[in-house]
Amino acid sequence: MTTLGDTDPDPTDALSPLPSRNGSGTPARGRLRFCYGPMDCGKSTLALQINHNHARQGRRGMLLVRHDRSGEPRISSRIGITREATEVGADTDLRQLVRREWVAGRPLDYLIVDEAQFLSAAQVEQLAELADEVSLDVYCFGIATDFRSRLFPGAQRLFELADDLQPVQVEVLCWCGAPGRFNARVADGEVLREGDTVVVADTAPGVVENPSSPHWEMELATLRYQVLCRRHFRLGDLGPASPQHGQLRLT
Ligand SMILES: [Zn+2]
Repeated sequence: MTTLGDTDPDPTDALSPLPSRNGSGTPARGRLRFCYGPMDCGKSTLALQINHNHARQGRRGMLLVRHDRSGEPRISSRIGITREATEVGADTDLRQLVRREWVAGRPLDYLIVDEAQFLSAAQVEQLAELADEVSLDVYCFGIATDFRSRLFPGAQRLFELADDLQPVQVEVLCWCGAPGRFNARVADGEVLREGDTVVVADTAPGVVENPSSPHWEMELATLRYQVLCRRHFRLGDLGPASPQHGQLRLT
């Protein structure tokens, strides 16, 4: 298998290393960035804003998404802005995706990847390769930790490899008023500590995507996520009375 980093690239290869763009003799490189935050912190909105800013400058980009909450291959923000996107599957080689665009006469300047926590470690490595070898600027957006407060594999690899790490500044608050940093998975008023890592649901009661879960039927009816501060995540304290208490709900 050839990789983008091979020496003596085929001159017809659309992903041959680009000539230096800065004229200084040092090769132009793209940057790999990871913007992260809890659910509902505005990551998708920021992703679409960055896409808008680049497109206005005449730069060509591609929007990618893993497991968007809409269930469609698009980036949908909670304030109602939506753009079509390309769905990344578990086995998608992101280098091939970019190569196809180049072959079709659509060279890319940047990639925007939403829900990047669901990427595999290998896919994050492919993004780093694209930044280094074909000067692509890559903007990844996602959640750092899962409902057990453990790093998602994609997020972990991004923390290890990214040039820039940026917490998203729109702060989501726990019901107590402290910064919310953890996405608690909640069913029947209890914080769940075990289960499948990837279960797509909303911060309102949602449908569970993975029917292999042993608690599937129960979760189908009641599962949701709630953002909590570390203390209340540790204690499993969802706050007083209202099941919706403390949630940022814009939709
Ligand atoms: Zn709290």
